[in-house]
Amino acid sequence: MEIREVLARHGFFFKKQYGQNFLSDPNLLSAIAEDAGVGKDSCVLEIGAGAGALTRVLAERARRVVSFEIDRALQPVLAEMLAGLENAEVIFADFEKYDLAALEEELGDYIVVANLPYYITTPVVMRFVEESKNCRGLTVMVQEEVADRFSAKEGTPDYGAVTAAIALRGRAETVRKVSRNLFTPRPNVDSAVVRIRFGEGAVSVGDAAMYRAVVRAAFASRRKTLENNLMAAFRLSRERARELLALTGIPEGVRGETLSPAMFAKLSDVLSENI
Ligand code: SAM
Repeated sequence: MEIREVLARHGFFFKKQYGQNFLSDPNLLSAIAEDAGVGKDSCVLEIGAGAGALTRVLAERARRVVSFEIDRALQPVLAEMLAGLENAEVIFADFEKYDLAALEEELGDYIVVANLPYYITTPVVMRFVEESKNCRGLTVMVQEEVADRFSAKEGTPDYGAVTAAIALRGRAETVRKVSRNLFTPRPNVDSAVVRIRFGEGAVSVGDAAMYRAVVRAAFASRRKTLENNLMAAFRLSRERARELLALTGIPEGVRGETLSPAMFAKLSDVLSENI
């Protein structure tokens, strides 16, 4: 079924403010489901059903698919595209305002698979990273530069607070580059599929809230040294900040972006015990 034709028949107009760039290439849609490891026991949460092309492919493979869509104008389109798929359900709501804890209670264990609306990519991913209990991982299409940030290595310009925050839950990897030509309408940038596996290679810390506070502090001002950023965030004297860094085995003068997630974890444990 040609998606443009279905959309036109229902008098649908794309809304740029909702990040509506739809997919239709069957090979790409199957590849995303493969990348995510969707199988017959999977419960999948999708953010942004759009015209339902990905929802359909996911529902054909998974046990259950629950998909959010903010734009009610897509209701008749989705009814047509998902006809006959008993295991696919669309919730017409703004995912950002939805109660994640209540949703998780209803879903049990699940994975997120989505071609995310670009204007909320990072907050949506961070919501799962920081708040989810039953999420086992995410496979998401994002802008290429965002993918680079999610999966960056320490010491590179793309490495930042988001990368280090993800490391607390698992490992992020860019699994596929996707040309802008495969979206309707065509966006101005290329995209990539990132897979974040929760639980795999996650750093271990005594206090997750302290780890997040340390990471936030370290990247609060990228031009400042870690020592200066820690002094400002935790109200420490220079002498005390130096002592704590020395206890962690971090040399003087380093900047936050050179610290691996494992070193942030170590620093977080030292701060938990000493301040
Ligand atoms: N999954 C479809 C596909 O791959 O063709 C559509 C992807 S499109 C990039 C993102 C979709 O998310 C749009 O349909 C948009 O209306 C929807 N959306 C945007 N903001 C949303 C929000 N806050 N909550 C739920 N859906 C949202």
